[in-house]
Amino acid sequence: MAKLQIVTYGCPVLHRVAEPIGEDLGRVAGLASDMLDTVKAASGIGLAAPQVGYSVRMVIVDLSPIDSAIKPLVLLDPVILEKQEEETALEGCLSVPDIETEVKRAKRVVVRCKRGDGKSVEFKAENLFARVIQHELDHLDGKLIIDYQNFLQKNLSRLKLKFSSAIKNEAHAT
Ligand SMILES: [Zn+2]
Repeated sequence: MAKLQIVTYGCPVLHRVAEPIGEDLGRVAGLASDMLDTVKAASGIGLAAPQVGYSVRMVIVDLSPIDSAIKPLVLLDPVILEKQEEETALEGCLSVPDIETEVKRAKRVVVRCKRGDGKSVEFKAENLFARVIQHELDHLDGKLIIDYQNFLQKNLSRLKLKFSSAIKNEAHAT
């Protein structure tokens, strides 16, 4: 098991548009399995490659903490083809610790992506599954949950993030 370090707000890789994987799937196979280990260790339900420092278009969706019957999915070069209906819900993010914010997302989406074996698939997702996919795809475009906040909320979040990382650094120093 290889657990990768999750980078947090302010790290440049989180704020840039990630590169397509294309045909060279071999180079991301190891990364996919490390990302699966990482999301499980963090008790998260989704993780995008930029969150572990790799600017490539790959995401993991793992709803098993909510329903153990659901197997984790690896999506390569995912695109949303259709969005239907909207709903607002609170979201958190492993890269934006201690911040929760309301985000309006489509309730249902149709997604196209490649699987680990290179085959292209299309599928429908709804509710939390659709929300996680949209959240993770935002990461591939350098967008974070605090980018949905208004000016005041965003400044407050930034202060909070600065404060918590200052405490963390102090804790490491001692
Ligand atoms: Zn996130």
